[in-house]
Amino acid sequence: MTARILNGKELAETVRAEVKAGVSAFVALRGRAPGLDVVIVGEDPASVVYTRNKEKAALEVGMRGKLHKLAGDTTEVDLLALVAQLNADPHVDGILVQLPLPSHIDAEKVTRAIAPHKDVDGFHPTNAGLLAIGRADKALVPCTPRGCMKLIALSGVPLAGARAVIVGRSNIVGKPVAQLLLAQSATVTIAHSRTRDLPAVCREADVLVAAVGRPELVRGDWIKPGAVVIDVGINRVDDPQNPGKTRLVGDVAFAEASQHAGFITPVPGGVGPLTIACLLENTLLAARARVEI
Ligand code: NAD
Repeated sequence: MTARILNGKELAETVRAEVKAGVSAFVALRGRAPGLDVVIVGEDPASVVYTRNKEKAALEVGMRGKLHKLAGDTTEVDLLALVAQLNADPHVDGILVQLPLPSHIDAEKVTRAIAPHKDVDGFHPTNAGLLAIGRADKALVPCTPRGCMKLIALSGVPLAGARAVIVGRSNIVGKPVAQLLLAQSATVTIAHSRTRDLPAVCREADVLVAAVGRPELVRGDWIKPGAVVIDVGINRVDDPQNPGKTRLVGDVAFAEASQHAGFITPVPGGVGPLTIACLLENTLLAARARVEI
């Protein structure tokens, strides 16, 4: 079997176009654009690129986007003061504080300080709790997990009663993906670093989501024939074809897995592009919900 590719780049374009249309309608109705404020503390190169892309993406769909660049030695008190200011600002619909934060700042405290209805990352305990009690409709759901669900939906494979295995139990990917799959009536297993016989657990999966951060951990013979494989991992490794250069690989050995899976996401071009698209979607949802309050 050769798997069909679930093209995240194309799907993200569709989502962005839908958000753009939604933003136009919002502006026509409310006389202002939804606003996304992104906060970065310090100069971590990957975070600088991510935050710049988020601001740019917001502007491209007609939102107001603003990047707050704070020095690496910004105190927790000053960061919390900015969050409080953004919470109170009626023009701000979405607030995102880029993680990781420098070690002198308590990231959990900052996450809790963001007003839940502006928490477009969906990491606030209120949003995580709403998801856990099956009220994703009332929550802002984390962006990468939302993207995973859109890609699974693209496969057309029914989830009710399907066996789903998520490898990874992080609060930002593994756990919320598990909740979303459970909400669709899949039978969900969360595997992690202490799981015994991970290959055997993975072989049971009709839907396999890998969110581990270990290059090509999931091998071809771990995949149930015909399964939907969603690879969240983004790992930079040396490129044996180009000495001295690096390349991106996922948590799944793509070439091998493609021989067994029914559907598979590539890296890059799979889950990655959907994360920002879903952030824009969350910002529009947050703006609409705030107006309804
Ligand atoms: P994390 O480090 O917070 O969590 C990794 C999880 O994998 C942990 O729960 C751990 O128990 C599990 N794990 C580690 N080693 C394992 C092993 N050998 N066997 C089984 N499980 C193991 O990571 P995260 O933030 O959830 O991110 C996971 C990956 O997804 C990373 O590569 C990250 O870069 C990527 N990511 C991509 C996007 C995107 O937009 N595409 C967004 C977030 C994260």
